[in-house]
Amino acid sequence: MDNFGIAVHGGAGTLSAVEMTPQEEIIYRKALETATMAGYNVLVKGGSSVEAVEAAVMALENEPLFNAGRGAVYTNSGKHEMDSCIMDGNTLKAGAITGINNVKNPVSLARTIMEQSEYVFLSGKGAEDFAHKMGLAFEPDEYFHTELRHGQWLAVKDTEEVLLDHKKVTKFGTVGAVALDVHGNIAAATSTGGMTNKRYGRIGDSPIVGAGTYAKNNTCGISCTGHGEYFIRAVVAHNISCLMEYKGLSLKEACNKVVMEDLVKMGGEGGLIAIDSQGNMELVFNSEGMYRGWKKNGEELQTGIY
Ligand code: ASP
Repeated sequence: MDNFGIAVHGGAGTLSAVEMTPQEEIIYRKALETATMAGYNVLVKGGSSVEAVEAAVMALENEPLFNAGRGAVYTNSGKHEMDSCIMDGNTLKAGAITGINNVKNPVSLARTIMEQSEYVFLSGKGAEDFAHKMGLAFEPDEYFHTELRHGQWLAVKDTEEVLLDHKKVTKFGTVGAVALDVHGNIAAATSTGGMTNKRYGRIGDSPIVGAGTYAKNNTCGISCTGHGEYFIRAVVAHNISCLMEYKGLSLKEACNKVVMEDLVKMGGEGGLIAIDSQGNMELVFNSEGMYRGWKKNGEELQTGIY
């Protein structure tokens, strides 16, 4: 099939339009283009949607601008605790991890769990042990240090505040990708450092199958970003798939209902990227902006922020 394509996001917590300088905008757009093309280049060669979303998310994890992998935010104890999930819409297999440190590309660990273990969801030290055993790349703490994220944490570390808002903050900087490949298979992946100053082992929606990430060939692939607690309670990604499967809603109708009606009513800020089996894409958010990029076969590469 020739309606293949990929969409990526770099989080629903953009710098506000008035704070974003033209230079910063160019840097963000370039990073989104690089990630979109990392995934698209896999698809164009006939590679799988799983491979494509992994490649796109790895590019975003390696980019310190975004709250995932290298640019992950700090927890209350001054550490990084990263979460990720990947799902294959063809087999409904999934792999996920939460609360891991020092693994260079959490999305690759999620994929390794999906494809090479008998489990779906691993956490903390156990997940890191599995990553070591499978030969995944590790990096020291310094690799994950960015002045921006460190400064955000220092500003709130002695408070109860979990950073939702901040001057010059990329709140909700999670990354993700959804893709449809030439074989008609859909995949989705999400990766995040979570929220600045989180404590008590807090887990957001990103690594939870059906909340922040979901893929099913006959409906859609979804990757979310936003205030995770609300996305968990609204079971956002699976809910959209169900609205399509059981109520016959289009991708657009289902995404708009969940993001612009249900989440708004609950007070849940954020957005998501979605793709269906026809290659239709939705990049929808109820926040001020969402870093995003997308490319369909035969169409221009596009990026957006607001
Ligand atoms: N959804 C993520 C979480 O709650 C945060 C984000 O999207 O930036 O952990």
